[in-house]
Amino acid sequence: MNCIGSRAKLVDKSHSSIFMKIPLHLFNTLSRTKENFLPLKKVVTLYNCGPTVYHDQHIGNFRTAMSVDLLKRTLLLFGYSVKHITNITDVGHLTNDAEDTGEDKVQLGARREGLTAKQVARKYEKLYKEDVASLGVISPSKWTRATEHIAAQIDLIKKLERGGYTYRTADGIYFDSSKDENYGKLAGLKSVKLQAGIRVDLGEKKNPSDFALWKFAAKGVDRQMEWKSPWGVGFPGWHIECSAMAMKYLGETIDIHAGGIDLIPVHHTNEIAQAECATHKQFVRFWMHSAFVIEGEEKMSKSKGNVKTMTWIRENGFSPLDYRYLTLQTHYRKELSVTIDSLTAAKTAFAQIRNFVIDAPRGGKIIADKYIKFTESLSDDLNAPRALATLWEVLGGGASDADKRATIIKFDDALGLGLAKAKRAKVVIPTTVKKLMTAREKARKNKDWTASDTLRDEIRALGFEIKDTPQGQTIEPVL
Ligand code: AMP
Ligand code: ZN
Repeated sequence: MNCIGSRAKLVDKSHSSIFMKIPLHLFNTLSRTKENFLPLKKVVTLYNCGPTVYHDQHIGNFRTAMSVDLLKRTLLLFGYSVKHITNITDVGHLTNDAEDTGEDKVQLGARREGLTAKQVARKYEKLYKEDVASLGVISPSKWTRATEHIAAQIDLIKKLERGGYTYRTADGIYFDSSKDENYGKLAGLKSVKLQAGIRVDLGEKKNPSDFALWKFAAKGVDRQMEWKSPWGVGFPGWHIECSAMAMKYLGETIDIHAGGIDLIPVHHTNEIAQAECATHKQFVRFWMHSAFVIEGEEKMSKSKGNVKTMTWIRENGFSPLDYRYLTLQTHYRKELSVTIDSLTAAKTAFAQIRNFVIDAPRGGKIIADKYIKFTESLSDDLNAPRALATLWEVLGGGASDADKRATIIKFDDALGLGLAKAKRAKVVIPTTVKKLMTAREKARKNKDWTASDTLRDEIRALGFEIKDTPQGQTIEPVL
């Protein structure tokens, strides 16, 4: 069966052009090419897969959130309105999500921390929201929790059941991927039948790529999150939440769906299958996928345990926005590795921009040719590194400081570095440094230059630079 079928609603791009101010060319994972983006209707509909709330998120997760934010800010800058939904996965994401086996990750977190599943989910949801806010990410129009949309998920499964796409096993209701002719189109997967040739332990599954829509509560297993359904007490599969919530709030065909590239082969592939077989319409017009943050050669991931968190960023003396600046230096479809050195370089560059904006006079005009150049870079599949290069051209150019400032502040609508509100960081000199300064003053009075130099080095190692002036020592933080 072809789930989109002849009733497929072909996308009419022509009428949308009236809303368009600056064209956006966005790489679409579906076609593996850059396409001219135009929304289906006046308001752009955008959905992104949010966090599974059982653990601190790592900086890779946040990079993806910032890539989506760059897209959204660019759309806003280009004159669109955006309706944006981000989900909170607080049930149904199993430890082995490719095979629908293992323990619910939120349940696992609850056991680890001696909390209820709901407590652990709310705790990490709150932390996530605080972290993304500190990174300059604009809140979605609505955050949607999977546990608060069980009815919508059951309705969608019922639709699939009526269409003949489901079957029952001892542990749940499954989607029969062989019934969907287009299954795997996002990932370019070979036909399901071919895959069935690979020897895997299918259990009761008919095809390796079939997946759970509803899992039954297993006898004797203590689960805190269960609901009644037409098929028995249990809980929804992970993928169904996104299809159900995206369609509930954004309509059956949405403009852009985003997430990290790890979601292409299973999660997003299954979201498409469920939605399109239920509605017979194209589910998503543009799929945007952000590349990984890597550690060495490997993807940063909770399960590998090679994660760096926002706490790590702060503990090493960096601000969340230093990290945002760093991510903007690499295109969102390229892998990024984050080190103390790369963060230090980003922090220094960002501080230079920030200090300029703080000191420059207000009331300037936007430099038109630079603004056009900047938007052209973003319009080319969100090329932030090139856009940043234009910002540096502005900074080093011959315009007045007021005009430079006005231009950079406008750029920041897309970059999200909080420049309009930037304040010079208050420098607090630690007592240890003050003591070393006093000791150095004494050493200099005694003309003990060796001691004075050693003390200067010690102070530098603590992050401060001493300068000797006729008025005495001055001190500044090393960036
Ligand atoms: P999770 O909490 O694991 O469901 O992931 C939340 C989001 O972060 C998803 O969009 C993932 O694709 C994305 N993600 C996970 N690991 C990484 C990584 N190492 N780099 C970039 N994005 C990631
Ligand atoms: Zn999702």
